[in-house]
Amino acid sequence: MSTLRINSERLHNRMEMLAKIGARPDGGVCRLAFSQLDLDGRTYVRDLMEEAGLEVRIDAVGNLFGIWHSASAQPALMVGSHTDTVATGGQYDGALGVLAALEAVQTILEHEAGSQQTLIVASFVNEEGVRFMPDMMGSLYFTGELSLAQVRSSEDSQGISIGQELDRLSYAGSDSLDDIPVGAFLELHIEQGPVLEEENLEIGVVTGVQGLSWTEVTVRGASNHAGTTPMRLRKDAGRVSNTLMYDLQDLTSQIENLRLTIGSVHYHPNLVNVIANEVRFTIDARHPDLSMLQETERRIAQILDSQTDCFIDYHSIAKVNPLKFSHQIVSAVQEAADHLALPAKQMISGAGHDAQILGAQLPAGMIFIPSRNGISHSIEEYSTPSQVENGANVLLHAIQTMANQ
Ligand SMILES: [Zn+2]
Repeated sequence: MSTLRINSERLHNRMEMLAKIGARPDGGVCRLAFSQLDLDGRTYVRDLMEEAGLEVRIDAVGNLFGIWHSASAQPALMVGSHTDTVATGGQYDGALGVLAALEAVQTILEHEAGSQQTLIVASFVNEEGVRFMPDMMGSLYFTGELSLAQVRSSEDSQGISIGQELDRLSYAGSDSLDDIPVGAFLELHIEQGPVLEEENLEIGVVTGVQGLSWTEVTVRGASNHAGTTPMRLRKDAGRVSNTLMYDLQDLTSQIENLRLTIGSVHYHPNLVNVIANEVRFTIDARHPDLSMLQETERRIAQILDSQTDCFIDYHSIAKVNPLKFSHQIVSAVQEAADHLALPAKQMISGAGHDAQILGAQLPAGMIFIPSRNGISHSIEEYSTPSQVENGANVLLHAIQTMANQ
């Protein structure tokens, strides 16, 4: 295996420069998708791609690609992430994956290390989906899951459409990658969870992304006086929903690896001395295994259907199947970590990523580095310079293995 290493000082400086674009006074970063600051961040990356000698292409929704063309006709290897952030974001979520991809490809070119495959550095738009839904929009457009019309017509809470913003900011381009078949995708990202740090590991070899199933539940009872209505005569939506919530949460002690959250609860009329006649709440269930996720959905329905004191109405509001990453790419990442003598473990991603969208159509994989205290989507987001360097070197070596297979 090669002894090539990325230029960590250059990567570090670029991470700092990009973090200045949209820097918040509290130390965080705000580059909401389809804003001027987001565009400024993308322009910074585009200029770096050009400096590195890559051919730059920007598609009709603003996805940015830096391409190095190999002489062979093999399908290309795409590497990247996103540079948009949440409103109170940090310097690492997304930005790391784009700048490290560029650093790795630039290192290969500078050292004339060669690649059988064309290499593409990608920065997808609107991964976060904060102002405009859905999230992972750029990769959904790239894979054909969303049409240009669907992207352009998505509106924010003020009724402003993405189409209007793309035109106002001259944000989009007219290029495509139609002439370059993409054969695989690899993404480096911060873990956004506490596992690597807690176990003193440097690298997460990501084997897949867990699936999710969201349900919205409405419990309907009858409002009445809290002091005069005997307990046995009540149709108390509050009490019934509390029992349901307890039973639902308890599924996590019965189904291994299940993560279940009731994150939103609304009482009506929500008054201290009135029995609630309606309670609405949500269930967020996640599992890495499709059959277990489906089993969870059955058990949720069973719990909700078994209740007779109130009328229960429930329906699914979102569903994403779990995804297993390509075995070959997982092996390439594991080998790279082993080669660099970095302690690593195979793990599932708890959050959604562009790699999951691309991975539904082609072989894909991900590399995680530790997040301090497991924190992300926060100004507290932090990974050390050496963790960033290690992640980028694993990315470099995985690219070299994959690109020459
Ligand atoms: Zn991200």
